[in-house]
Amino acid sequence: MIMENIFKRTSSHWVKYSDYDLVQSDDGTLYVMPADNATVKIFDPLENSEQMVIDALNVGLTCMSKNSTDEDIAGAVFGFVSEYGLLGLMTSLTTTPKFMDYDAVYLIKNQFIKEEAMSTEDYIEIFFPFDMPEIAKNNDAVSFNVSGNNDMMALAMTMSNRPMAVNMEFQRSYAERYDWLVKQFKDWAFTFVTSTLYYKDYDKLDETTKDVYRQAMACFDGISPSYHIELLDKPTIVWDFQSLALAIQMMFSLMLANEQNPLKICKHCNKVFKANRPKAVFCSPQCKNRYNVYKSRAKNKDHE
Ligand SMILES: [Zn+2]
Repeated sequence: MIMENIFKRTSSHWVKYSDYDLVQSDDGTLYVMPADNATVKIFDPLENSEQMVIDALNVGLTCMSKNSTDEDIAGAVFGFVSEYGLLGLMTSLTTTPKFMDYDAVYLIKNQFIKEEAMSTEDYIEIFFPFDMPEIAKNNDAVSFNVSGNNDMMALAMTMSNRPMAVNMEFQRSYAERYDWLVKQFKDWAFTFVTSTLYYKDYDKLDETTKDVYRQAMACFDGISPSYHIELLDKPTIVWDFQSLALAIQMMFSLMLANEQNPLKICKHCNKVFKANRPKAVFCSPQCKNRYNVYKSRAKNKDHE
C-alpha cells in the first residue's frame, strides 16, 4: 500500500532468460549465465514486488539451513533466477549505475569486492569472464558492441534509455558468480531472521545481545534508487531501479518497516510469508491443518 504510493511510477523493467546454466571458468569459479539457446523476456519485477521479496528470502533461508544439500541450494537459486533474472550485481555495487561514462568505478562498501575503486574495464571483466564485450570510445561517447545476435540488438534498442551498464547486464554473455548470488540471498535472509528474533525475544535479551542484533542490522544498507521527473499529466517522480538487487533490497526494507503486513516464518513449513493478520502463524490453511495433524499424532504416540 505504502509502497504503491511511494513507487507509483518506476522505470524498473528487467530482463530474464528462459534458461540459465552453471558455467565454470578456467580458475574453477562457478558462474550463472543465460543458457546458449535461452529466449529473452522483458518484464516488470515490481508488478508483484512483495512476492519477489518473499521468494528471495526463502531462497536465502534454504541457503542458510544446515539441512539443505548442495542440490537444494542450487535448485533454490536457479528457481529464483529463472523467475526474475540475474540480480544485476554489476550495477548494485557502484556509486552510480552510469559508470560506463568514466574510466574508473567507485564501489560502495559491499560484501564481494574489497577495493574502493578500480578501472572500469577491470570491473566489467568480473561480470564477463567468458566473453568480454567490445567497448568503443568515440570522443566522450562510450558504446559496446552487441555480439551478432538479432535478439541482442533488438534488446539493446528497446532498453536504450537505460544506463549502458544496465544494458550490458541484459546481454547473453553477462554472468554472476554463483557464490556471490548465494551470499546475497543469505544476507537478506540473515537480516530478516535477525529482525524477527530481535522483536520476538526482545524481553528475554540482555543489552549486550540486543547490541549485537542492532549491529547486525546496521550492516544492512545500500544505495537508494535514483529518480527523475517526467512531465506527464503533472510533474511526476519516476524511480529508476537500475539493479534487481537494489529493487529487492528497497522493497524488502519497506516490508520490514511496515507494521500492518509483517513478514513471518510459518510455524509448520518454516517458509517466509506475509501475514494478513498480526496473529497469523501459518502461511496457509494447509500448513495449519498439517501442523495440527502432526501435533495430535505426536500426542497419541505419547499416550500409547
Ligand atoms: Zn507453511
